Amino acid sequence: MSTAGHEHPSDLGFSTRAVHAGDPPRVVGEPVVNPIYQTSTFFSDPAGEGEVFYSRYGNNPNHRRVEERVRDLEGAEACLVTGSGMGAMVSAILSCVRAGDHILAAEALYGGTRILLDRELSRLGIESSYADLLAPGWERHLRDNTTVVLCETLSNPLLRFTDPADLAPVCRERGAALIVDATFTPSYNLRTLSRGADLVVHSATKYYGGHSDVTAGLVCGSEERMAPVRQRAVTFGVAPDAHAAWILERGIKTLALRMERHNRNGLEVSRWCEGRAGIRRVHYPGLESHPDHARAAEVLTGFGGMMGIELEGGGDAATRFVSALRLVKPAPSLGGVDTLVSEPRHTSHVAMTPEARAAQGLADGFVRFSLGIEDPEDIIADIDQALKTIG
Ligand code: PLP
Repeated sequence: MSTAGHEHPSDLGFSTRAVHAGDPPRVVGEPVVNPIYQTSTFFSDPAGEGEVFYSRYGNNPNHRRVEERVRDLEGAEACLVTGSGMGAMVSAILSCVRAGDHILAAEALYGGTRILLDRELSRLGIESSYADLLAPGWERHLRDNTTVVLCETLSNPLLRFTDPADLAPVCRERGAALIVDATFTPSYNLRTLSRGADLVVHSATKYYGGHSDVTAGLVCGSEERMAPVRQRAVTFGVAPDAHAAWILERGIKTLALRMERHNRNGLEVSRWCEGRAGIRRVHYPGLESHPDHARAAEVLTGFGGMMGIELEGGGDAATRFVSALRLVKPAPSLGGVDTLVSEPRHTSHVAMTPEARAAQGLADGFVRFSLGIEDPEDIIADIDQALKTIG
């Protein structure tokens, strides 16, 4: 790093860039930490020259700092920060579709995204269909009017791994944009654009923010792809407020440290759970028993902190188990420093019948963990004592 402190060549390590990418030049007397610009508007040129600065336009310095840092970490030409993951998703999708177009989406998709496709975009004449994009021959589901292929890197809650590199060549050939929700695999674990995604979307509410204290979203891609995304975001008014962007920037500084611990906790806790009395099956891509382990091990830096377990005793056992946990907190969401637990049948998959869930491999008794950064032995001890109470 130069002594002027304003040059951050991309050969600096990930942790260094998570702290410094996008820092302005050092000026004596200026704050070391970017302040919160709690203002909706900024002075403009009386002659109308140059950019107009207005916080809804996403050009508040707090937005800019986050965008520059994430742009660097994701290896993108451009980045947009939004007020939520859904704000990011709707801006990304609507930059690629118009009435009459078709979206081909992975069957295992976050519920909110599915509602966006099925209830909102369908009313605008944009049809969506779903397919198993991991299955050979998935491309037969593409149509002449398919302009978007949409998937998640790790699915919720079975954690099936889709490598965008398996979809990208076909998408390119057929002229469809590949939009990848990489919320479960932030840039420390996967540089999604380098695997051929056209746009990568994150709910920054999760790992990027990392402390369950801010709601935000991110979209990254090439300048060309991002220009229409930014236009949509400005029109829909999805920019976060300055304070939310500031909290997000602070969270990103520790992304590498947190992900190292999430990755370690994921491996240690899932290994402990596997084969344990009372647990029928453990879903974690870092385990050799996971169907996508080999590919995930090849492509990911780490497997993350999301883990699913299937309890022997079904739904009743799952509810008693969750109630018996003392350290681990029952709550939706994921990617924060606190370990959280939820039952998909009460949260993400509540709209489905037990039979439909079972057909997807989600029997009642399934418990989803978002493993935090606590000491793994403490998380394990809590799971152990809760298992004993239901045993
Ligand atoms: N994508 C995934 C995979 C998610 O899990 C979520 C939220 O849980 C979202 C998108 C939406 O993010 P947000 O709640 O920040 O709008």
